[in-house]
Amino acid sequence: MPVINRIADFQDDLRAWRQDLHQHPELALQETRTSAAVAARLREFGVDEIHTGIAKTGIVGVIRGREPGGAIGIRADMDALPIHEETGKPYASQTPGVMHACGHDGHTTMLLGAARYLAETRNFAGTVYVIFQPAEEFFGGGQMMVDEGLFARFPMSQVFGLHNWPALPEGVFAWRNGPTMAAVATIEITVTGRGAHGAQPHNGIDPVVVSAAIVQALQSIVARNVDPMDSGVVTIGSIQGGQAFNVIPETVQMRGTARWFSPKVGDQLENGVRRLATSIAEGFGAHADVIYTRTYPATVNDPEAMDMARRAAVTTVGEARVQHLEQPTMGGEDFSFMLNAKQGSYIMLGGRRTPDDAGVHHPRYDFNDDLLPIGASYWATLAEQLLPRTT
Ligand SMILES: [Zn+2]
Ligand SMILES: [Zn+2]
Repeated sequence: MPVINRIADFQDDLRAWRQDLHQHPELALQETRTSAAVAARLREFGVDEIHTGIAKTGIVGVIRGREPGGAIGIRADMDALPIHEETGKPYASQTPGVMHACGHDGHTTMLLGAARYLAETRNFAGTVYVIFQPAEEFFGGGQMMVDEGLFARFPMSQVFGLHNWPALPEGVFAWRNGPTMAAVATIEITVTGRGAHGAQPHNGIDPVVVSAAIVQALQSIVARNVDPMDSGVVTIGSIQGGQAFNVIPETVQMRGTARWFSPKVGDQLENGVRRLATSIAEGFGAHADVIYTRTYPATVNDPEAMDMARRAAVTTVGEARVQHLEQPTMGGEDFSFMLNAKQGSYIMLGGRRTPDDAGVHHPRYDFNDDLLPIGASYWATLAEQLLPRTT
């Protein structure tokens, strides 16, 4: 039984909604059009209550079943990325420099599909909260919703999330207990030396040379401090400094990210970045300011809630298309904040059509619309299985 028939019936609507969202992507905490479109659809479906303005643009829809019972939450993210789309698709982004390159337009649409089906059929006991959160990519919208009382205002026993995954075959669910996605920090280092003529380095302190030494040394944290059986990443993704070929600049700015799973490695990475950057700069007679910000915690699946999710996935696509995810990913995910506050789990849904499909966060990434009815059916199945009717 692959997809719920009633949901397959409105597959064309799902595709149209998804492509409309795709044409009008909005960055974190600016999802006003998206949020209005979600609220309008929920109203159309006859969802019992629609709470808007949670974490600015976030929405919670309340759908009640035919009899009293427990409650669960299902969460989708709504924001896009600052990427200029290069797919050339007829439904490509109409906003230059902004693109749904992570498929959150697809996640939002899957949850809309489930909400439509659940509001229409109500074939469950209790309450389903459909949670549309802003700002997954930046600013931690998941944390903001929790801080604004998500779980106090809408009491639920579990919360569930899903991400499309272009590296996995289309329609395959992948699950994993425990740490699944990494904790994240952002790194900003400003090296201040003394500017000089490019031909007179002895009159200055060259922050470019200092920065080069720092970038090299930072790689030794994972290679030489972290236990080889643990995981960690330090990446410097941006170096800015100087304008001219013959001028030694006064400052250089570097920006990067660190990723880890265990708290011990998290501390080693932070201490290592701070220690090396400041002491190396000092050794050269320069100065380094380090802003190291831990943004998202690791995404850790609860085994009991993962079992619930896996059962719904098996019902939706069959045992053969539900796989164990052998390796966690070093990508970060702000659903981690919800999982820190509430029992729950996060599952991956494969979307690969060809071996050359672009991955998420790539300008040629193209969300696979065939996943829409699968994702919506999975959510609806999960709700019906966890909130079974007694009559
Ligand atoms: Zn993303
Ligand atoms: Zn994403």
